[in-house]
Amino acid sequence: KPPKEPPKIHRLDEAVVNRIAAGEVIQRPVSVVKELVENCLDADSTSINVVVKDGGLKLIQVSDDGHGIRYKDLPILCERHTTSKLSAFEDLHCIKSMGFRGEALASMTYVGHVTVTTITQGQLHGYRVSYRDGVMEHEPKACAAVKGTQIMVENLFYNMTARRKTLQNSADDYSKIVDLLSRFGVHHINVSFSCRKHGASRPDVHTVATTSRLDAIRSVYGISVARNLMKVEEKDNDPSSSVFEMSGFISNANYVAKKITMVLFINERLVECSALKRAIEIVYAATLPKASKPFIYMSIVLPPEHVDVNVHPTKREVSLLNQEVIIEKIQLVVESRLRNSNEARTFQGQT
Ligand code: ADP
Ligand code: MG
Repeated sequence: KPPKEPPKIHRLDEAVVNRIAAGEVIQRPVSVVKELVENCLDADSTSINVVVKDGGLKLIQVSDDGHGIRYKDLPILCERHTTSKLSAFEDLHCIKSMGFRGEALASMTYVGHVTVTTITQGQLHGYRVSYRDGVMEHEPKACAAVKGTQIMVENLFYNMTARRKTLQNSADDYSKIVDLLSRFGVHHINVSFSCRKHGASRPDVHTVATTSRLDAIRSVYGISVARNLMKVEEKDNDPSSSVFEMSGFISNANYVAKKITMVLFINERLVECSALKRAIEIVYAATLPKASKPFIYMSIVLPPEHVDVNVHPTKREVSLLNQEVIIEKIQLVVESRLRNSNEARTFQGQT
């Protein structure tokens, strides 16, 4: 057989490249909500309201009362890699904002129709403008607006037939969005959150700003969760192995559930850490076998240079320096907290 000629390599169209990249950042409707809500938080909002239609495929609308967007920035707002948060790569070490890559809004315009309404302090009116494929569709139009920004994403994945089909068949994206806002609500207790279906009069999550974490947990997850929680805290300052602070609430022996709920924030970012989750589950199974599916809210703070936030397009997973050491220390704290409470219980039972 004569050797086959190698296929010719060609450059992909920019539009194709952008849509592929966008599909990675925006995997499902809940990814849109996460990015938009994080932008609201970055804009110092105190009230964030979400409306969802058709699981997010028809409409996702997120409104905030934050600092708004300058009129002059609107033309480049949805271009890829435009951001007000990062300028040098080195800044990534100490980034405090949720966003930094200027990719979220751009991505949304490649897979959906984005409309922004915004007003900045001291202005008499706001502006509204729509975007497609990174660019403004028309000059911003003056409009009435209340403080802050509202971003609307319509017809998500209209140009990705396969993605739309798989999502249409799974009815659970709205519950993922509700779950996301519940988590934010428990962590950002100084912000009020709400989420409802389009046309519904009652929200499915609604938190009011408070100073008590336990109140926030109660309003989101209910009394039966809140009354069975114990505070945990740990501060470690051993520069050779681990430097971190952890605080949170963990469920006691009376809390019985079908599955574990783990609400985890690392350096103010909502993340998943399956290794830590598993480690805690193991402690519960060994210490409180009847309550082995706990509720955990945990906030961990590390020196920013110990966390790599840029390992995943969705920023969902972070990698930590000395992860094993930190996990082991948290395991010990949780274990001793569970043992103490269990002994106190047994003791009470005897008297
Ligand atoms: P990033 O958050 O990584 O900067 P985004 O694409 O999410 O990138 O947003 C681009 C920019 O748009 C942000 O840096 C910010 O300046 C502005 N922005 C987006 N959403 C809001 C909002 N709700 N309020 C104020 N400014 C916003
Ligand atoms: Mg962002």
